This record gives sequence, structure tokens and C-alpha cells, in this order.
Amino acid sequence: MSELEATLWDVVILGAGPAGGLLASLLSSAGWRTLLVEKRLFPRTKVCGCCLNERGLQTLQRSGLGAIASLASHRAPTRLQLSARGVGRCSRVAVQLEGGGVISRSVLDAKLAQTAVANGAVFLNPCEGRVETRSESGASADCKEVRLRFQGTSRRVRARCVAVATGLTYSPFEVSRHRASYLGASTRLPEALLSPHEIRMGWSAAGYLGMVVLDDGSTNLAAALAPAFRRSCGGVGAAAQMIAREAGMLETEIDLEEVLGGAQWRGTPLLSCRAQTVACDRVFLLGDAAGFVEPLTGEGISWALDAAEALAAILLSERCLRRAERKWQQCSVARLDASRRRCRMITTVTRYPSVMFGGIKLLRSGLISRTLVSRYVFPRSGSRSSCNGGEHAV
Ligand SMILES: Cc1cc2nc3c(=O)[nH]c(=O)nc-3n(C[C@H](O)[C@H](O)[C@H](O)COP(=O)(O)OP(=O)(O)OC[C@H]3O[C@@H](n4cnc5c(N)ncnc54)[C@H](O)[C@@H]3O)c2cc1C
Repeated sequence: MSELEATLWDVVILGAGPAGGLLASLLSSAGWRTLLVEKRLFPRTKVCGCCLNERGLQTLQRSGLGAIASLASHRAPTRLQLSARGVGRCSRVAVQLEGGGVISRSVLDAKLAQTAVANGAVFLNPCEGRVETRSESGASADCKEVRLRFQGTSRRVRARCVAVATGLTYSPFEVSRHRASYLGASTRLPEALLSPHEIRMGWSAAGYLGMVVLDDGSTNLAAALAPAFRRSCGGVGAAAQMIAREAGMLETEIDLEEVLGGAQWRGTPLLSCRAQTVACDRVFLLGDAAGFVEPLTGEGISWALDAAEALAAILLSERCLRRAERKWQQCSVARLDASRRRCRMITTVTRYPSVMFGGIKLLRSGLISRTLVSRYVFPRSGSRSSCNGGEHAV
């Protein structure tokens, strides 16, 4: 039996996105025997808009990861351009932003995993994990077993508890998906299509598209699309082109066909989902694996970091895992529900491009405050909680 299998791990963490990476870093620095496993070879891209809000930066700072926060805030976006099409023409408005940053997911997630390793965690990559049920494993009640696919072999490891931070792709518990949910997709273009401190967002009939320039000068494009819209356009690339054209997101001299034509997109399953439970039998769900709404308000990374910080605090303070499960269930409902409700409300309203078009006109005329939009719709900061995709090429 290898050391991997002989060790009783304090925690096995599945998934090295922001939720899993930060949790591994915090628990290993507190002396927990931590095994972090990630199925995709690092560094890897991830479907994301790559905007990290102020709240996420603050969580990194509090967790002793100020160097990673600085990398993101170095490219803090100061201007958000919103555009949508009304009857026959498009309308645009610029909103000033404060705080937050931009960071590519290949850099952010790799840095978090590196920090966890520096703190003493063992990182298996690429390695896919699955939580075994009691009947499959026959494990005693004082531990949980995880089946790993690593270096072409199947191995079983034991842990006092398991944290599932696998994003939208895998869950050991039942997950309900919203029927009207959009799909996510993103790509990277080698050239900068806008200025480095700007975010552009455009709306069309059944989807929206965001663009930002990353630290290496490439442009990151991320979209949320109704599945039927993607099908009717003949694919994600064509749907993104349609949104960019209809909303007038880019300068007219840019040839969208030429710029976007050959882009390779990665996609996600349906975005809006919620796990029926987030803690049971020594297993804790966090980040997107616990539930997600949509990327419109650019908060998913900060929700994931926030969840990792809160779960680490519970696990480190609560010796009894049953109590920790109860606390995590209450905490994640209390913490996430308010921000999810706000995000759901905003995404429902923005489903109608005519509403967006009208809203943008009101913003331009000054009848709606731009500050209100930048604070409420795209919150860069936020108060702290009291409770301290199979992705695929498309
Ligand atoms: C189109 C789009 C744009 C977005 N834009 C933004 C944005 O600009 N700002 C923002 O804050 N949020 C944004 N988000 C949301 C953000 O990407 C997620 O909320 C965030 O990545 C969630 O982090 P996580 O750690 O929970 O999961 P993930 O980041 O999804 O990480 C999960 C990891 O687990 C791995 N994994 C999966 N299954 C297994 C397994 N069985 N074993 C081992 N490893 C496994 C995956 O490979 C992955 O690396 C966007 C989302 C989409 C879809």
C-alpha cells in the first residue's frame, strides 16, 4: 500500500478552483494533513470572465495571500461599458468602477494550489476523485473514502472529511438545475480588443457577452447563452459574434468574423443549479458545487473564496464533524442566499434586451444613478458574512 493510501488524511479536497485551492491553503497552514486533487492538468484555463471583485481581493488579503490579490488589482478595471440593442439601434453607457481586479484563471488557480503545497498540502494533478458511498467502500463510520484515478491507476484514500469543490461538473449529492438556465462559454484571443482597464458587456435576445484584457495582453471573452439561442446560431462562436454585432460592443472597424471566426470556445453545463444538501456524512460542498446562479454580476470567484474561508473556520473550530456539518448547512444558506437572490433578480430583469436598452438610456440621461448600478448590480465590495463544468470544447 502506498503512503497515499496508508495515510488517514484530515481532509481530501476535490477540485483546485478558487474554493478548493484556498481551502487547501488554509487547512494545510493550520497543520491539517491535506490532500488536494484536480482532474485537469495545471495550469489550465477555465470558463470565466476573470474579473475578481473587491470582496474576493479582501478574502485573499485576510487569508495571507496578498501577493495573489496584488496580481489581480494591478489590472483593476475602472470603466464598465454596457451595451444593448433596442428597436433598430443600440445604446451604450459607461459606468465607473472602483476596486476589484482582473486575473487569468490559469494564473489564479495555479497560484492558490502552489500556496497550498508550500503550506504542506499534497497536490495530485491530474487526478479525478469520487466520493465512495458507505455501501461501496464499507469504510468505518469515523472516516470517508474517496476513489482516485491517478496515473492510470485506481486508488482508494481515507479521510476524516471530504470537501467537494468540483464546480458545476460533479457532485456526490443530488443537484437541481434551473430549467431556464443559460450555458456558459469562454475563449481567449491573442490580441487586445479594448483598453486594459475596461470591461465591456453586451446583451442580445438570449444571452450576454463580457470582454476584458488579461495581463498578457490577450482578450478574454465569456458568454452566458440560452441553449436554444446557441443552437439556432450554429454554435457558441456565432452566437457571440451576433451579440457583439447587435449590441455594438466593438468599434465598427473591427471585423468580427475575422477576429472571432477561428476562436476555440470551452463550454459549461447549465449554470443555474443548487445542491439539495451541502453537508452530510463527513462530506462538505462549497463553491459552485454547492450552487450557482449566473456570471452576470461577476461574483462567482468571490463566493467561492468566501465559502472556503468560512468552511475552514468552521472545520478548524469545531472538533465534532456532525456539528460542523450542521453549521456549514446553516452558514452556506445564510451567507449565499442573499447574494444569490440579488443575482437571480438582476439576471431575470436583464433577460429582456428591451429592458436593458431602456435602462441604458435612463442611465445615459442621468435618471438612474450610475453609482447605484456599479454598487448594486456589479458589487465590487460587500460586507462579510456573519458565520464566518464538465467543461468541454464546444
Ligand atoms: C461564462 C462565465 C463567466 C464567469 N465570469 C466570472 C467573473 O468574471 N468573475 C467571477 O467572480 N466569477 C465568474 N464566473 C463564475 C466563476 O467562474 C465560478 O463561480 C468559480 O470558478 C467557482 O469556483 P469553484 O472553485 O467553486 O469551481 P471551479 O472554478 O469550477 O473549479 C472546480 C475545479 O474542480 C475540478 N474538478 C471537477 N471535477 C473533479 C473531480 N471529480 N475530481 C477532481 N477535480 C475535479 C475542475 O477541473 C476545476 O478545476 C463565471 C462563470 C462563467 C460560466
